[in-house]
Amino acid sequence: MLTRVKSAVANFMGGIMAGSSGSDHANSSELPVRFPYGRPEFLGLSQDEVECSADHIARPILILKETKRLPWTTGYAEVINAGKSTHNEDQASCEVLFVKKKPGILATPSKNSTKRRSSLPNGEGIQVKESPETDGITLSYWALFDGHAGAGAAVVASKLLQHHIVEELQGLVEILRNSAVLPPTCLGEDPEAATANNRTLTRAASLRGAAGTPGSPSTPQTRFFTEKKIPHECLIVGAIENAFKEMDLQIEQERSMYSISGGCTALVVVYVLGKIYVANAGDSRAIIIRNGEIIPMSSEFTPETERQRLQHLAFMQPHLLGNEFTHLEFPRRVQRKELGKRMLFRDFNMTGWAYKTIEDDDLKFPLIYGEGKKARVMATIGVTRGLGDHDLKVHDSNIYIKPFLSAVPEVKVYNLLQYEHGADDVLILATDGLWDVLLNEEVAEAVTNFLANCDPDDSNRYTLAAQDLVMRARGVLKDRGWRISNDRLGSGDDISVYVIPLIHGNKL
Ligand code: MG
Repeated sequence: MLTRVKSAVANFMGGIMAGSSGSDHANSSELPVRFPYGRPEFLGLSQDEVECSADHIARPILILKETKRLPWTTGYAEVINAGKSTHNEDQASCEVLFVKKKPGILATPSKNSTKRRSSLPNGEGIQVKESPETDGITLSYWALFDGHAGAGAAVVASKLLQHHIVEELQGLVEILRNSAVLPPTCLGEDPEAATANNRTLTRAASLRGAAGTPGSPSTPQTRFFTEKKIPHECLIVGAIENAFKEMDLQIEQERSMYSISGGCTALVVVYVLGKIYVANAGDSRAIIIRNGEIIPMSSEFTPETERQRLQHLAFMQPHLLGNEFTHLEFPRRVQRKELGKRMLFRDFNMTGWAYKTIEDDDLKFPLIYGEGKKARVMATIGVTRGLGDHDLKVHDSNIYIKPFLSAVPEVKVYNLLQYEHGADDVLILATDGLWDVLLNEEVAEAVTNFLANCDPDDSNRYTLAAQDLVMRARGVLKDRGWRISNDRLGSGDDISVYVIPLIHGNKL
């Protein structure tokens, strides 16, 4: 075990260990792909252009064509990696979607969406683009996916996640369009179950009354009927969270029919009913720049930021470690000669460090090992949330990583209508290829300066700003590789950037 982990550790590459993605489906390479590899549909590239974009030496920066427009005149630019993978494993999608109320549906979300498998969204039958909002709501959608160990999961997510969001929201249309007090069914129960539960409560209250509880025996106490008021915003957050889980489940189920390689992070923005919802699962990042001020709109999910969740899971379910790893963290690898000696350690329930006496179990490889971008879960993967990765195992073992990975995003909400925005106020979304080499402050300064020098009426200004950011992160190819300002190393990763103007909110 130690040898194979050592050899794997010596071979860090990207967000995942090279060669560590085994597949249970022996003939998976013979299965058809779910969707062919390509670049984002909204770029409108020909096959020749897609091939030209995959030049790892020239690394051309792709931007929106003049003839193409994204919602809100959003800017977009991307560049392929410097050779770490054949394909650009970042993917993107952006569109306006119409969420139509499900015919005949009560204002009731599905009781348990994970049981609905007969109607997996496949991108068909969903009404897209503007439509009269008499029986539905319109939403704008932007997404970035950063794939690892293949582009398969990222491509699938870029085609389908938006339809899972639409499906989750369909059951909420009536509620969201009506500001009346939420009915009990908004708590996730179906009407029949809610009625049955109310009957149970009524009966329990009556019995308590009959047993001498203060209050009239025949009048149930109102406290049994109190109900949390759930803001509409929370329903939308829940719908997005469920959509991510459904997408992950669909990938899991469809891998018996299709070849869906690897996994991916997902950063999604949904604008609906005056608010922006930023959902992040992985290590991409979103920031708002408003009047020069930086407002972080996401957190990264890595082995370091999620250490306690991962350690706790391993503590509760030690079989997931395959008797090869320890859930405890030590400042360095423990050596056999240190048995019986004292060393600093950290458990799942600690933020600080304490001493313990080293035992045999502590000689196992740590669940989380490495620092910063090199931190890995079980010496394998450097992101802890995302989609896919169902077949990912520790190198040369039967230990699955997936139980430690979460598909659930963190969702942050920004009330667009609460502020008056200027033409230079923007929401920036980018994969880690940008943020690995540029600080938030550098990005904010670059965008602010760039936009200040653009014609405010030029609708192409946000695409040019995105292009400028990708250029700053990629740099130029010199004798010693890609270099950016101050002769720092440029990003050799795939880089994808949206610049979304928020002034659109003033017109809503
Ligand atoms: Mg990346």
